[in-house]
Amino acid sequence: MKRNKIKEILESGKSGYQATVAGWVRTFRNNQFIALNDGSSISTFQVVIDYENMDPEIVKKINTGASIKAEGEIIESMGKGQSVEMKATQITILGEADPDKYPLQPKKHSLEFLREIAHLRFRTNTFSAIFRIRHQMAFAIHKFFNDKGFVYLHTPIITSSDAEGAGEMFRVTTMEIGDPPRDEAGQIDTTKDFFGKETNLTVSGQLEAELAAMALSEVYTFGPTFRAENSNTSRHLAEFWMVEPEVAFNNLDDNMDLAEELLKYVINYIMENGKDDLAFLETRLLNEEKQKPQIERSAMPLTEKLKFCADNEFVRLTYTEAIQILKNSKPNKKKKFKYIIEDWGADLQSEHERYLVEKHFKKPVILVDYPKDIKAFYMRMNDDNKTVSAMDILFPGIGEIIGGSQREERLDVLKSRMAEMDIPEEEMHWYLDTRKFGSCVHAGFGLGFERLVLFITGMSNIRDVIPFPRYPGNAKF
Ligand code: ATP
Ligand code: MN
Repeated sequence: MKRNKIKEILESGKSGYQATVAGWVRTFRNNQFIALNDGSSISTFQVVIDYENMDPEIVKKINTGASIKAEGEIIESMGKGQSVEMKATQITILGEADPDKYPLQPKKHSLEFLREIAHLRFRTNTFSAIFRIRHQMAFAIHKFFNDKGFVYLHTPIITSSDAEGAGEMFRVTTMEIGDPPRDEAGQIDTTKDFFGKETNLTVSGQLEAELAAMALSEVYTFGPTFRAENSNTSRHLAEFWMVEPEVAFNNLDDNMDLAEELLKYVINYIMENGKDDLAFLETRLLNEEKQKPQIERSAMPLTEKLKFCADNEFVRLTYTEAIQILKNSKPNKKKKFKYIIEDWGADLQSEHERYLVEKHFKKPVILVDYPKDIKAFYMRMNDDNKTVSAMDILFPGIGEIIGGSQREERLDVLKSRMAEMDIPEEEMHWYLDTRKFGSCVHAGFGLGFERLVLFITGMSNIRDVIPFPRYPGNAKF
């Protein structure tokens, strides 16, 4: 079907020509005014019909949710709210929607209800805006890296390496659950499994990205990752998308610069290219927050917050400095934190991260040089032998949005770290080879894509920024 996109008709604002539009009916007023949306923009398009001269069988079927095609002349609009509209000469019903059964009525539905009908929620203003922005963000990320000469690397989704330790994994097997092949000792015989060994869904593409960075210099992955952690929070999914650049010859400072530049680039890209959707989401957030007590409301409207983030330098400080601040903080002294910070070495919880960002600095924060005991084996040991060259980026309302590090490039140090953490060398021979042959300083990080979508859209639950969320107890659709 040759059709005119609603976005283009509205943006051009021209009138006096014949057009065809197709989309889904949002509302139908006075038997005359159809508000039509085709997903090309947040705006609906007004199609005006002359119902007295139209087949009543067709008029009857113009219901919320139905898909229709409308043909007619684009004319200047008399009504307010739009510059042009269509004076339809022909309406074709493409797909009916029974008004007694269609779950999306033209009224406000709760986000919880819409999550139950995630297959239809794309048809609401909120979710169509979110998924257009999500798309633009993905595009901006590819553009950012492509413009810098990075190579987009597709790392495996099924892996047999389980040393990364980023989280609990999902087992991948074709063995029969009730009746797996067993060896002589009665143990499950994984050599008979599909891949001849135990395999899982990946928790991160980093280790493989490092291998490629040791030849291509600058690579990034952008793909799904899986964690079987039983964390029922508004910031964790069992299946989420991660962006993981890995760069040869970069140290931790270069790594922080790259991460900060990427985040600001994506935020600026959306402020520039997603204006209408952002404006809609900003109003949505203001309305939602009117229901909340003053102290729980955002300090700034959405676009102001994004601009603030894009225009200000992130605060950089060490873990040790952060612990000092937290120890002396009011909520710590008054025992308001769930986890009281007592000693150096404590892992920071989301409440601590959010205190630093939202209360203390009121800016995004990059924390570096974490105690080695709370970080992964591959992070580069600092000269103090106590901390590693790790960095976490903390965002207001989100907490950790990026986790990264300079990687340990020294073979002997890496081996002794692995021994300390009981990671068998044999299984990691391929990883160690990069340190044996032409090793070099390198660094990278992982950006949780949905956490950035949360930040930019002003939504508060991660289940609302991915089309079909997977979390404990839910893999619907
Ligand atoms: P957290 O402490 O928030 O659970 P993490 O330290 O386990 O995160 P990393 O292994 O460092 O996370 O992963 C890199 C990034 O991926 C995180 O900074 C975060 O943005 C994102 N991320 C991690 N786990 C999840 C998850 N379950 N759902 C969505 N995003 C996640
Ligand atoms: Mn982390």
